[in-house]
Amino acid sequence: MKIKTTFLFVLIIIIVCSFFIFPNSSLPADEMVLKNYYCPKCGLHIEAVNQPSMGSCKEGGGHHWRCLGQVGDKNYQCSKCGLVIKSKDTPYGGVPCKNGGGHNWKRLS
Ligand SMILES: [Zn+2]
Ligand SMILES: [Zn+2]
Repeated sequence: MKIKTTFLFVLIIIIVCSFFIFPNSSLPADEMVLKNYYCPKCGLHIEAVNQPSMGSCKEGGGHHWRCLGQVGDKNYQCSKCGLVIKSKDTPYGGVPCKNGGGHNWKRLS
């Protein structure tokens, strides 16, 4: 009985420790992910880890950055404005295209 209790105790410690270690080690990796950002006002696209600063948009005021999702190794092109981005998955919908409406993403081979 005593050996069994000690084993259980060690097991619980291992489980509790892994809960503390893993969420902390995965956090910095999440924050370093490159994302696609697009300004629907001027059509500029950049890759950045964090929301870029507004800067000055050539259409007046600051850029209105919208996130299109994670940067990846697949190429997607918008058939409306011709923009090509490298994306992990289909870029987020609901981001306006500078040529009106939403982007119409097509995967390039
Ligand atoms: Zn802009
Ligand atoms: Zn577009």
